[in-house]
Amino acid sequence: MTMEQDRWSRVKGRLRSSVGEDVYTSWFARMDLEGVQDESVRLSVPTRFLKSWIQAHYAERVLSCWQAEMPEVHRIDLTVRSAVRPVVQPKEAPAPVEARRPPALELRSTATAPVSANHDALGGSPLDPRLTFASFVVGRSNTLAHAAARQVAEGRRGDPVMFNPLYIHAGVGLGKTHLLQAVTWAGNSGNERKVLYLTAEKFMYGFVAALKTQTALAFKEALRGIDVLVIDDLQFLQGKSTQAEFCHTLNALIDAGRQVVIAADRPPSDLESLDDRVRSRLAGGLVVEMGSLGEELRHGILKSRVAAARAHHATFEVPEDVLHYLARTITHNGRDLEGAINRLLAHSKLNNRPVTLEMAEHEVRDLVRPQEPKRIKIEDIQRVVARQYNVSRSDLLSSRRTANVVRPRQVAMYLAKTLTLRSLPEIGRRFGGRDHTTVLHAVRKIEALVSKDTALSEEVESLKRQLQE
Ligand code: ADP
Ligand code: MG
Repeated sequence: MTMEQDRWSRVKGRLRSSVGEDVYTSWFARMDLEGVQDESVRLSVPTRFLKSWIQAHYAERVLSCWQAEMPEVHRIDLTVRSAVRPVVQPKEAPAPVEARRPPALELRSTATAPVSANHDALGGSPLDPRLTFASFVVGRSNTLAHAAARQVAEGRRGDPVMFNPLYIHAGVGLGKTHLLQAVTWAGNSGNERKVLYLTAEKFMYGFVAALKTQTALAFKEALRGIDVLVIDDLQFLQGKSTQAEFCHTLNALIDAGRQVVIAADRPPSDLESLDDRVRSRLAGGLVVEMGSLGEELRHGILKSRVAAARAHHATFEVPEDVLHYLARTITHNGRDLEGAINRLLAHSKLNNRPVTLEMAEHEVRDLVRPQEPKRIKIEDIQRVVARQYNVSRSDLLSSRRTANVVRPRQVAMYLAKTLTLRSLPEIGRRFGGRDHTTVLHAVRKIEALVSKDTALSEEVESLKRQLQE
């Protein structure tokens, strides 16, 4: 690792502990260092949206984290990098974008308009040529999502749509974008259907921009002219008019028998800023969760990354024991796996040395992280509490006020508030549409009780343990 990169990992470490893991992964996980010059540091992020958000909310924080490592830094320049970047290629010039498209696209005749023309008109988001089905590794946690995505990609114009929308959710770095872009590449390569890939932020910007230039109608028409609409990172969709438009588009497409594919970092029921109608429409298709990557899957992903790197660097080899070490220790997400391979590649190329276990241990030490605490869902809480008190989940959600359901219901609400990041109104909604003041009352009540009543306090502790294991 160069000194600059070393410093950058320390700055990231500071940032991570200063904003917390959740905020860090949402906003900074994809921030890269482009270079340091005199007093200024150049950083990049993949989207305009991230850039404006970070500038508006975290500019000072980022600067002070740098200054803690390098007091002479006085400026941070944040830029948007293009989505299509070659893996680290120290000597060779990057191949032109055209040449790096998957082969299926190169076969299309020049007489037909390339996919990107359609993308440009609508402000479609750029695609990464490496994210195809061929490079997607299937394992236990993503079998269903992969099968559904394949099915969508292989559909032909006019085929009946089996599930609509297809809604895939998973935490950061677990392969959502990879799968969605694979659908887009595969769907478009048949040249029969139009598949449009948009990030939610692109949808927002596209729409807002179109409104400003009075071409909202054209934008809608164009959207409605596509066969498959793929929307990534839906959790970022914000704003009332954008939502209304999203809702229209969704309904129009689904009613016209067009396929919609969506990815987000949470299930539809947890998209707090969307209104109920949109949520239920989203939940009405096929909702699939991709779980965390198991060791075997991580091993597979590492192998596929090495194979991809070897296309440009034929002599690059990663011994089996190193792959095992990486798969065992880098448990967090796919992005870190990719990062690890890129570093080994850069290191072995720059120093002209073969990859060894010692090198790997040294290069990736900051990617080895303690296991994240489990993400607890409100449904799990309801299930476990209902089981403990021998009532049904629908009792908990019902309006019954008998003592044998009131207490368990309050305990469940209390746990929902303390073990998840959900807001009081959201918790109320998930408990049969109760008001947030009811939830607040329950939380206070149980808080007061556990400090006096040791039996209840032990019960609550035992429930927490059951939920956290
Ligand atoms: P998300 O969009 O869910 O945050 P990405 O799709 O960007 O995650 O995945 C992060 C990285 O991990 C990418 O480099 C991706 O190629 C890789 N990755 C994740 N899951 C898989 C998989 N099943 N097979 C191959 N690569 C994967
Ligand atoms: Mg993504």
